[in-house]
Amino acid sequence: DADRAVVELDNVEIVYDDHFLAVQGVSMSVDEGDIVALLGPNGAGKSTILKMISGIGRTERGEVSRGNVFYRGEDVTNFGANEMVDRGITHILEGRRVFEDLTVEENLRCGLYRGGRRFRFDEDDYDIAFDYFPQLKEIMDLKAGYASGGQQQMLVIARALIHRPELLLLDEPSLGLAPKLVQDIFETLVEINEQEDITMIVADQNAKRTLDIADYGYVMENGQIELHDPADQLVQREEIKEFYLGTS
Ligand code: ATP
Repeated sequence: DADRAVVELDNVEIVYDDHFLAVQGVSMSVDEGDIVALLGPNGAGKSTILKMISGIGRTERGEVSRGNVFYRGEDVTNFGANEMVDRGITHILEGRRVFEDLTVEENLRCGLYRGGRRFRFDEDDYDIAFDYFPQLKEIMDLKAGYASGGQQQMLVIARALIHRPELLLLDEPSLGLAPKLVQDIFETLVEINEQEDITMIVADQNAKRTLDIADYGYVMENGQIELHDPADQLVQREEIKEFYLGTS
């Protein structure tokens, strides 16, 4: 439904360094309030798509060389990261990028910077972080570099929430985490999605877990979309079972 689309990609091609073709002919649509799974193996182009939506891809010499990206109907194809942050997009990059020498609290405060500007800080700003990740309250003075992988993942999500995004892009949130932790964090993502009205795109190699929480899914391979369907239908597809779920 075009009226509800938060993000739309129309036949998008993305090149790096003016010539390396990373994504080709990708069309996708993300509806308001949905969690959308972006699946596929290493190098398929998932991160590249997220980076073009958030605008940060341009800092890596990436460029939309064909097609268009729309955000709430506005053509944002050539917009930079600051312009997208201003529109309410927050991108959590792959690899849990915390400032290791800063405390958990200082890392959370960084969530208040937007496009180089600092918003007035209020103790209440932490509430949204603690609501979903109460554990963080106990480690506020810990240097983030000493936090566990799971705590760091919670921290980067909490920091993103302090931004009060309308659209949250998550790149490989499950990477390197124990299954139980992945389950906890993904359940929390569903709560956040429902209670805060935040639309999400989750790029992950863990197809099963991601489809479990998603409304809709896209499967990429070699820079193209191979399959897409509502998540509950996608898990039933033979190709998915065979290659991604290991349950064929
Ligand atoms: P991963 O989970 O490893 O990030 P992915 O599906 O997100 O996989 P991308 O990172 O988007 O895949 O990579 C898609 C293709 O673009 C790959 O061939 C990759 O080598 C290439 N690529 C990614 N970033 C750059 C860059 N900054 N410059 C040149 N090529 C790049």
